[in-house]
Amino acid sequence: MAYRSPVADIRFILDKVVPLAPVAATERFAEATPETVEAVLTEAGKLCDEVMAPLLRAGDLHPARLENGVVRTSPGFREAYQQIAEGGWVAVAAPQEYGGMGLPQTICVAVNDMMSGANLALQLNPLLTQGQIEALEHHASEEIKALYIPKLISGEWSGTMNLTEPQAGSDVGALRSRAEPLGDGTYAITGQKIFISWGDSDVTENICHLVLARLPDASPGTKGISLFMVPKYIPDAAGKPGVANTLGVVSLEHKMGLHGSPTCVMSFEAAKGWMVGEPGKGMAAMFTMMNNARLAVGVQGIGVAEAAFQQALAYAQDRVQFSQIIQHADVRRMLAEMRAEIFAARSIALACAVALDLGRATGEDHWLARAALLTPIAKAYGTDTGIWVAEQGVQVHGGMGFIEQTGAAQYCRDVRVTAIYEGTNGIQAMDLVGRKMADDGRAAFRLLQEIEDAAKAAREALPDLAEAVWQSAETLREHTEGMIAQGTQDCFAGAVPYLRAFARVLGAHYHLRAALEGGAHEKLAAIYIRRLLPQAEAALAAARAGAVDLFALSPEDLGA
Ligand SMILES: Cc1cc2nc3c(=O)[nH]c(=O)nc-3n(C[C@H](O)[C@H](O)[C@H](O)COP(=O)(O)OP(=O)(O)OC[C@H]3O[C@@H](n4cnc5c(N)ncnc54)[C@H](O)[C@@H]3O)c2cc1C
Repeated sequence: MAYRSPVADIRFILDKVVPLAPVAATERFAEATPETVEAVLTEAGKLCDEVMAPLLRAGDLHPARLENGVVRTSPGFREAYQQIAEGGWVAVAAPQEYGGMGLPQTICVAVNDMMSGANLALQLNPLLTQGQIEALEHHASEEIKALYIPKLISGEWSGTMNLTEPQAGSDVGALRSRAEPLGDGTYAITGQKIFISWGDSDVTENICHLVLARLPDASPGTKGISLFMVPKYIPDAAGKPGVANTLGVVSLEHKMGLHGSPTCVMSFEAAKGWMVGEPGKGMAAMFTMMNNARLAVGVQGIGVAEAAFQQALAYAQDRVQFSQIIQHADVRRMLAEMRAEIFAARSIALACAVALDLGRATGEDHWLARAALLTPIAKAYGTDTGIWVAEQGVQVHGGMGFIEQTGAAQYCRDVRVTAIYEGTNGIQAMDLVGRKMADDGRAAFRLLQEIEDAAKAAREALPDLAEAVWQSAETLREHTEGMIAQGTQDCFAGAVPYLRAFARVLGAHYHLRAALEGGAHEKLAAIYIRRLLPQAEAALAAARAGAVDLFALSPEDLGA
């Protein structure tokens, strides 16, 4: 079964559920007319279906490999990347002044969704470049912007992010890489970074590493970290890749999945770098890239979920056991819930992107606060959905799901890392209940009010479904009030179930909006609201339980 980009589903959400129209009504995004959006999505969809998806298996069977210090990518990846770059798909939302399309982030999210479904490992390359462009746009000097951004947008060069070190994973503040000033405005960067996605490859002529490191007199922790641009080849006077920098790939990781994406151990040995942003403000600058990437990684989960679902649906119509297996209630349940989860996760991610675009185009703070609130939810729920749907996809296939040649297992293996990188989903949940509620929950309560108002307005047309959504929002509001009054440890102990409950209520809200259009949308909303939304109540009970029980159970009690 060949992957088909879900252009019509995305269009429906952007028309009826999370309208793009207010974004297109702003001066900044006036070019994002329905006709342009249709044309862009259709064209991107063709690339995904015809060029990227056919290489999915090759990436799995023939992982990227290290040959004499140079990474050789999986068969076909180089040529496919050229087509991505030539089509302008590396950076759909990048600024026009540097050669980008200047379209809303929402359209970029939609394109990334389709590309992730087609080929996650390959899509990770432009994803990282997009984040780097945004970080440079906001924090780099004019010279760095002028030199690097056009090359990144054209796809001639690609971008990476170098945070992780062996002792510094979630605790980025523990990193030890050093940056010594060379007296001419440049720095010598020394240190080892691990797990660097697309840290080297043969698909672009230069690779631009954004590296976190410490200046000699830097204070400990995250405050002492600065950000540096450290290119593989140092650009010459003409802006072409010049002499090789003193950095390289030590080894490639052997991974559970995502084999087509080279995950590199990098060594920087007094490599020449340029500071991006101010000394000691590296984390703030890197956060621009990470926030962009967090939403984008959530979307990776949704893309893979879509592909796994399409394959499971096709198999369920083909396979006969007594009857076509799709005629069995339990198989129907799996397929219906997979579809309902994908719709909810996709709507949340697009709502996050629309809020970002409206914030940027209007300068109104409440939109940016909305985007900030939705980012950890979109990341964690999008990736949890990817993992859960891919796993259900295996189950729909029965024994054939466990056999590699069907491809169902690859989706499971590939998507698993999305809940880990870009900040584990546990860290996302702590961000939601900590930093994102630091406004006393104002952004959350504003959103919950909108959900309740929309549910009230839908009561006449859809009484049962609307009542369930209203009630769930009310319960979440009460819990949120209680949680804000809780101590940090209790809050963190309940963060993951709280995030899941929030995602469920949001998902139900968007399903309710879709249900007002009737037909299959209403039937799918009934699946979500009757069968999945009730999980919010159970999740909130777990969220309310606090930390006491967890720490009452000592490591010895656990069997240590
Ligand atoms: C395939 C792959 C690609 C990657 N690509 C990149 C990349 O391009 N660039 C880059 O810099 N990094 C990259 N990473 C690294 C990735 O971002 C880290 O693996 C991730 O941030 C988690 O860090 P860790 O692996 O050290 O886990 P740890 O931080 O050791 O976490 C282990 C467990 O402890 C939990 N935990 C840790 N701290 C806390 C806390 N304070 N509170 C509660 N729970 C906590 C975590 O949630 C997790 O469950 C990649 C990783 C992989 C596997």
